[in-house]
Amino acid sequence: MTTDAEILKQKACSVIDSLASELVEISHDIHDHPELNFEEHYAAERLARFATQKGLDTTIGAYGVATGFAAQHGTGPTVAIVCEYDALPGIGHGCGHNIIGAAGIGAALAAAAVCDSAGGSVRLLGTPAEEGGGGKISMGRNGAFEDLSVAMMVHPADADLTTIDAIAIQQLLVEYTGRASHAAAAPQYGRNALDAAVMGYMGVAALRQHIAPTERVHGIFLKAGDKPNIVPRESSMDWYVRSDTIASLQPLKQRVLACLEAGALSCGCTMTHQWDDRPYADMLTNGPLVASYVTNSAALGRVVRDPRESGHAVVGSTDMGNVSHLVPSIHPMIAIAPAGTAIHTEEFAKCARSKTADQAILDGAKAMVMTAIDFWTSASRQALVAQVFSQENLSRDVL
Ligand SMILES: [Zn+2]
Ligand SMILES: [Zn+2]
Repeated sequence: MTTDAEILKQKACSVIDSLASELVEISHDIHDHPELNFEEHYAAERLARFATQKGLDTTIGAYGVATGFAAQHGTGPTVAIVCEYDALPGIGHGCGHNIIGAAGIGAALAAAAVCDSAGGSVRLLGTPAEEGGGGKISMGRNGAFEDLSVAMMVHPADADLTTIDAIAIQQLLVEYTGRASHAAAAPQYGRNALDAAVMGYMGVAALRQHIAPTERVHGIFLKAGDKPNIVPRESSMDWYVRSDTIASLQPLKQRVLACLEAGALSCGCTMTHQWDDRPYADMLTNGPLVASYVTNSAALGRVVRDPRESGHAVVGSTDMGNVSHLVPSIHPMIAIAPAGTAIHTEEFAKCARSKTADQAILDGAKAMVMTAIDFWTSASRQALVAQVFSQENLSRDVL
């Protein structure tokens, strides 16, 4: 017997099939025009214009972000379909966000075509600057994730996985100030800001062997002096501090800062620091929602595995983590590259514009819209998703 939900799924998938060649063309076009954090004017325009042309009236510059976009259609429980489309310096679409954008538009258009019959509503959200800019946090502060029942996106990877292993991250900028002097004629009058930074760096290097195995701290020097015969008056560093959760990140931040301050103290310098005000939270994957995604992907011939069971995980950080503390969310990974191909590489960028990637756009879009249909058409599933979410260890300070 064919249920109502199955009829709606067939209709939604046929909408995506009818858009297939255009979605693939958009993905290739965005891949050919890589843009960095908050500069994604071309991609935002391309995606939003296409959605509007196909009947989903989409506004660019949504929720206070110039390269963000949004649309909404329907009434009832609202499912957010999230698009990313920013690229990386040097390697273009080495994270494959062109696929996320195209799949998201496909899913949203198909959802809009069936949501009136399904008794639900869809919100399309174009969220720029995932690669360190926190576009979802900026848009979230202006209400982008309010009045939602669930949020979902797909991210390309080298395997089909239920989630990214996303841990919390916060960026730290540090500046040391000493006193300049001639390094040969009068070194005794100098206070060496480069030494202070080096001592701070070594402190963190020693700290690293006594932090949790899942925690990560990594930094670079931004400024390290002007000329060897001048005792460096100024130095600066850029650090990323990562821990399992926003909560466990807090004590680690204090330990890292203590190491860096010790560098200043040991060299008679002063130090100032600035924590980025948009840390990325850990990703909470909603179990019932992702179970639905797994079932729908299986119907498309994709076996989506739990990284804890398959022993294959993609570790990183994402501002979708922040969203997952506001609303029940999923961030499954969809295979576009041979196993072992890491994201943020030139090889992965090539895979992001391939036949395999093109297929992932269509499969990802279909799996998402079918998951939305499951959600809309089952009150018990809606209750279960909400109940599981309410039992999560939610962070409050994610926006
Ligand atoms: Zn990415
Ligand atoms: Zn990335």
